[in-house]
Amino acid sequence: MEFTKYIWHNGKIVNWEDAKINVITHALHYGSAAFEGLRAYKTDKGPGIFRLEDHINRLFYSSKCIAMEIPFSKEEIMKATCEVVAKNEVEACYIRPITFYGYGVMGVSPKDAPVEVAIACWPWGAYIPHEMVDVKIVNHRRLSPHAFQADAKIAGHYINSLMASLELRGTKYQEGILLDEQGFIAEGPGENVFFVKDGKLYTPQLGNILAGITRATVIALAKDMGIEVIEKQITPEEAYAADEAFYSGTAAEVTPIRTIDDHVIGSGKFEGLAKKFKEAYQEAITMRNQKHQDWVTLCK
Ligand code: PMP
Repeated sequence: MEFTKYIWHNGKIVNWEDAKINVITHALHYGSAAFEGLRAYKTDKGPGIFRLEDHINRLFYSSKCIAMEIPFSKEEIMKATCEVVAKNEVEACYIRPITFYGYGVMGVSPKDAPVEVAIACWPWGAYIPHEMVDVKIVNHRRLSPHAFQADAKIAGHYINSLMASLELRGTKYQEGILLDEQGFIAEGPGENVFFVKDGKLYTPQLGNILAGITRATVIALAKDMGIEVIEKQITPEEAYAADEAFYSGTAAEVTPIRTIDDHVIGSGKFEGLAKKFKEAYQEAITMRNQKHQDWVTLCK
């Protein structure tokens, strides 16, 4: 990973190497942290953060799910996010805000543990460095929404994604798809997933997946293009028979899927709606979509 110079930590900009915590930090032991992943892109007017307010709203929502009171307002966190990007003088970057239960109290219940907040950013190119990906439906299932708050981005939950990713190690597959408890398609370890069939867009409904901001962006762009979007339970067989499939996510952006469990999806080529959405997404993130200029916050 490429380091930058500064990190925002508990209200102050500090040198990257000074943003430290104690090994007895609550979150390190119990995964009691909420986090976000955003991207800032190069625009004609300097770096612009994509859907900043939506990400910070989700950070507050995820934090609230673990009874965490963030000692800063949403406005302060948004301002701090811009400050970190500007201070590090990057043209484009990935941004990682994290809220976590800190040092001084042990025991699973985080009662009385102090809350810390940090925001880092660094240049991070393509998360999935392939034009199209070969995907495997992994054996690990997405954790039940009865087991955790499935739509929140909480650090401890990511063991589920980690286990799914470990299954792919040493295989020819570049990414995975997790099924839900009932055997329907849920999502990738760090992405939501879409399918195209007969010109319509299909995606698993919310409930036991992360409510992806890229997912919401794709749905909004589809509406602009007059393409119908259907949110429903999707079986693996329906996925194999799709005309197209693609992932959506801040890190992965729009990544077309070539095969699932070795079934070639449609023509297996990067074309059609996947291509259209990838292009439309690129326009939106770089402020070239006139209708959705407000999705981008410039960091001056
Ligand atoms: N699902 C999971 C499990 C994720 O980690 C992510 C990445 N945050 C996504 C979906 C996509 O969400 P977003 O579009 O908000 O980045």
